Amino acid sequence: MLEALAALSLSLANGPTARPETCDVEIVVLGAGQDAGAPQIGRSDDPAWEDRALSLTATSLGLVNRRHGARFIFDAAPEIRDHLKALDDVAPRNGDKGADLGVDGIFLTHAHIGHYTGLMFLGREAAGARDVPVYAMPRMKAFLEENAPWAQLVTLRNIDIRPLSANATTRIDDVVSVTPIPVPHRDEYSETVGYWIDAAAARAFFLPDIDSWDSWRDVAGIDIADVVRNAHVAFIDATFFMDGELANRDMSDIPHPRVAATMERLAALPAADKAKVRFIHYNHTNPIRHRASPHSRQVENLGFGVARAGDRHCLAPIVSE
Ligand SMILES: [Zn+2]
Ligand SMILES: [Zn+2]
Repeated sequence: MLEALAALSLSLANGPTARPETCDVEIVVLGAGQDAGAPQIGRSDDPAWEDRALSLTATSLGLVNRRHGARFIFDAAPEIRDHLKALDDVAPRNGDKGADLGVDGIFLTHAHIGHYTGLMFLGREAAGARDVPVYAMPRMKAFLEENAPWAQLVTLRNIDIRPLSANATTRIDDVVSVTPIPVPHRDEYSETVGYWIDAAAARAFFLPDIDSWDSWRDVAGIDIADVVRNAHVAFIDATFFMDGELANRDMSDIPHPRVAATMERLAALPAADKAKVRFIHYNHTNPIRHRASPHSRQVENLGFGVARAGDRHCLAPIVSE
């Protein structure tokens, strides 16, 4: 057991370099951008037009359980094609699963474009998938069932919606369980949740979108500092780095905790807890999208981390008998 815990902390510390053959249950960062990705539509000055290595896809996590040959994704981004290819490269699907893509479940956070529209690639014009389990909260479920083109995915049985309830844990298999946690966010079409992802001795928290840490604490009594303390890795909303980031727009009415403010808020945490934070879902204007920016360095110097596509975090190392 001690050996297992040592291996666990080693692989968590290693993050992106965790070796797959030593890991039973692993999280893979498939995309780390805000919904619209980068380069941004209409912005011909975005450096990613010239250098595609600077481009961003919308935020999505993959979850691999090698013990069962199972693969899950959290949020279906518009770039789900690229995301599934990246997942295939890290954890090849278990045998030929044909049209079902080797996806054993898709967990959705909410109905904003970066988080669910990738489902369209499961339909008739694309994969023609069969009964892919899509885990959704009640309003999200109704939104998919009642609105075209998503309703067609349901009637053609491309997807099979599995209802989730707030704060209720769904056991996926004997190792992994998932719990949706409601958060305040612009909720026109669906509620919004973050997810606890529990596997063996480690747990990850995934929260790409929230209006503010204060309103979450006021509404639900949950403090982000406690969440980080209780997680082994916490992927949290980093849409904007600071006010003034959107040229020609007053940002005072625009929600999302700023990265700079989040770091201040978490400043009193011990270094070991700060190191669990992975900022994710960054807008094309957020300077942390560039690895070498002073802002990325600032995040690292303060002891936090930025999630990058391709990062890997082991939640359950293989324990040798
Ligand atoms: Zn978003
Ligand atoms: Zn959103």
